[in-house]
Amino acid sequence: MGAVVVRWGATIRDQLVDPHDTGPDATIEGIRRLRLFLPLVMAINLGYALYFWLLIPPATNAITLRYNNLIGLIHVCSGLMLLVAYPFTQYFHQRPWRLPRFQKLLQVLLCVWALAFGISLALTDQLVGSNTTNYVLAAVVVGMMGLLSPLMALAMFGVSYLAMFLLLPLAQTDAEMLDMARSHSFSAVLISFAASLMLWRQHVSATLLRRQLTELAQRDPLTSLLNRGAFMQRAAYELVRARRYANPTGLLLLDLDHFKKVNDQYGHPAGDAVLCGFAALLRERLREADIVGRLGGEEYIVMLPSTDVAGAARVAEKILLGARRLRIVHDGVVISVTTSVGFTVSLPTDEVATLEELYLRADQALYAAKTAGRNCAERG
Ligand code: GH3
Ligand code: MG
Ligand code: MG
Repeated sequence: MGAVVVRWGATIRDQLVDPHDTGPDATIEGIRRLRLFLPLVMAINLGYALYFWLLIPPATNAITLRYNNLIGLIHVCSGLMLLVAYPFTQYFHQRPWRLPRFQKLLQVLLCVWALAFGISLALTDQLVGSNTTNYVLAAVVVGMMGLLSPLMALAMFGVSYLAMFLLLPLAQTDAEMLDMARSHSFSAVLISFAASLMLWRQHVSATLLRRQLTELAQRDPLTSLLNRGAFMQRAAYELVRARRYANPTGLLLLDLDHFKKVNDQYGHPAGDAVLCGFAALLRERLREADIVGRLGGEEYIVMLPSTDVAGAARVAEKILLGARRLRIVHDGVVISVTTSVGFTVSLPTDEVATLEELYLRADQALYAAKTAGRNCAERG
C-alpha cells in the first residue's frame, strides 16, 4: 500500500515538475502541430464570415439577425488573430532554437485562442439551441494538438470550463438545456484533459528515448568515450571556434604499446579491461573541456582546446606517466601497459591546420614515437 502511494506521489510530482525538462521540446512540437492546422482554420473563418455576413439573405427576426452577425464577427476576429499569429509559428518552425520563452507564450496563446473561439461560438449557438459542439471541438483540438504540460493543461481546461459554466446562463435561459450544455462541456473537458495527459506521457518517453539514442550513437560501447564519428564532428567544430578566436589547439594520438601481447598473454576480456582502464585514466587526467575519443582498437585521440605547444607536451607527459603507473587488475592478475603519443598543435598563425592535416601530423608523430622505442611522445 505504502509503495503504491509513494509511486503515485512520484508520478504526480513528475507530471507537475517536468524533471527531464522536456517542456521546450513539447513547445516546439506543439507549435509545429498547431501551425499545420492554422491555414485550415483560417479558411473556415473566411468561409463562415463570408456566408453569414454576405451570402445569406438578411434575417427577418431579431434573434437570427443577432446570431448571424455574431457568428460572422467571431470568425472575422479569429481569422485576423490567426493571420497575425501564423508568421510567428512559421518563424519558430524554421528557427526552433530562438526565443524559447516567447515560443512557450505563443503555444499557450494559440491554445487560449482555440478555447476562447470555441466558447464564443458555443455561447452564440445558445441563441438557437443547446449546441456545445464548438467548445467540444476546441477542447479536443487543444488536448490533441497543444502538447501542453499537465499543469498547464489542467489550468487551461479548468479555467475554460469555469468560463463556460459561468457564461452559459447568460446565453441559455432554458434550465434543462443549460444543464445539458454544461454536462456536455464537462465531459468534453474531461476527455480532452485525459487525452492531453496521455499524449504528454508519450511525448516525455519519446523525447527521453531520442536523447538516449543520440547519446548511444556517439559513444564507443566498450569505454563510453566518444566514437570516431562523434569525435571528428566535435573536433571540427572546436577547430572552427579556435580559428575564429585565434586560439591554439592541440591534437594527441595515443596507441598502446604491444597491446597484441596483452590479448595473447591474458586473453581478450583482460585486453578489454585494459582498454577501459586506460580510457578512465584519460578521463581522469584530462580537463572537462578536452575532447576524448576512441578511434578503434587500442587507439585513442584527444583534442586540447586553447592549448599551445608547451601545454600539449605537458599533457602528453602527464598521460605517459599516468600509463606507466596504471595497474589494471583483471581476474586477480595485475596488468600494466605503456603508450606511445604523437601530438601536434594548430597555432593561430598556422593557416593549414584543417582537422585532416592535424590528424596526419599527429599520426606521423605517433609513428615516430613507435620507432623511437615506444613509451614516449613525439611532436609532429
Ligand atoms: P604497437 O606497439 O606497435 O602498437 O603494437 P600493438 O600490438 O599494440 O599493435 P597492433 O596494431 O599490432 O595490435 C593491436 C591489437 O589490438 C590487435 C587487436 O587484437 C587488439 N584489439 C583491437 N581492438 C580490440 C578490442 O576491442 N578489444 C581487445 N581486447 N583487443 C583489441
Ligand atoms: Mg594500433
Ligand atoms: Mg598498439
